[in-house]
Amino acid sequence: MITIKHLSKRYINPDGTVFEVLKDVNCEIGSGEVISIIGPSGTGKSTFLRAINLLDPPTGGEILFDGENILAKGYPLNRLRQKMGMVFQSFNLFEHLSILDNVTFAPMKLRHLSRQEAEEESMAMLRKVGMAEKANAMPSDLSGGQKQRVAIARCLAMHPEVILFDEPTSALDPTMVGEVLSVLRQLAAEGMTMLIVTHEMKFARDVSTRIFFMNEGIIYEDGTPQQIFENPVHSATKAFVQRIRKAVFEVDGPDYDMLSVRSQMDAFCNKYHIASKNETISSIVDLVTTKVMSTAYPFTLRLTYSELSDITALDVMKENIETSPLQTDGVDRQVVETLRSMCKEVVEESTTRGFRVKFVL
Ligand code: ADP
Ligand code: MG
Repeated sequence: MITIKHLSKRYINPDGTVFEVLKDVNCEIGSGEVISIIGPSGTGKSTFLRAINLLDPPTGGEILFDGENILAKGYPLNRLRQKMGMVFQSFNLFEHLSILDNVTFAPMKLRHLSRQEAEEESMAMLRKVGMAEKANAMPSDLSGGQKQRVAIARCLAMHPEVILFDEPTSALDPTMVGEVLSVLRQLAAEGMTMLIVTHEMKFARDVSTRIFFMNEGIIYEDGTPQQIFENPVHSATKAFVQRIRKAVFEVDGPDYDMLSVRSQMDAFCNKYHIASKNETISSIVDLVTTKVMSTAYPFTLRLTYSELSDITALDVMKENIETSPLQTDGVDRQVVETLRSMCKEVVEESTTRGFRVKFVL
């Protein structure tokens, strides 16, 4: 469907130096493929999507779409706009139009449908994303997740051949990510061709036919989810997919700001969709600070989450000790048993600087 050859995009900095965001991007995208584009921020993922749909035309290279060179002079932009939809992080709905009018707008203007035809079709699209009930509402009446579903319906109403998504869930409250991802899963199952820039690794792994790992302005590695996540060729890919999310808290004494630590841990769990672990984490922190480490200040709490293996752990670390705080005299055996019963595993290990107890959740 789409062939991209030697695509490049340069910006001239104010001081006259050249900044090459896209260096030499090459790929083929077949009909029905669902491609997730992952990679560190600032590596040109958004620039790549904006170049493909000519929002920000590339400075070099070729893009063939259904065999036509869309960079050729005179290629009708309207045709591209109709065949290629785009969904942004920030929804971009027309705030002064109702939900239904947001969806009928382009089909009436670009596909020249009558209002009645456009409304019938748009209602069907809104139904598909679960938003038919809100047809007469205004965008300001909707939550972020609802707005994004409307933005997807608006795209679908053009009957595009392919839809580009630029971090469609990044601006959403964590509780609303799921409803948008399930619409994307449904579209994927129906065979819609999609290119999705995303940080949702589990989603990318489940729904994609292929993954592009973008790094340093090129598609650094391209493969099936299994290849990219389990057997990456390049070390940069491996480091990216295996990265571990961390939040670290120093506990200096009994008067540490417990509420702040709790709320930051809560935010961490929400962000990585492990809210179900939050209560257990809270209880462990409580027992550890009041019953195990109550005379062992200062110490460090570290919450870690590996997206790839989906493992959450709470580490309790103390410098300059050689035995496990769980084995210390004066620590109630019953408390230790309770802690063990709350985890999948408790790893006690000495480190170069001291000792670490890892509660694996
Ligand atoms: P990503 O989406 O992977 O985070 P972007 O494509 O947004 O990355 O940006 C890649 C790089 O290009 C960034 O360093 C950004 O500052 C730069 N960039 C993006 N747009 C422009 C622009 N209009 N002018 C100059 N530099 C830009
Ligand atoms: Mg981006």
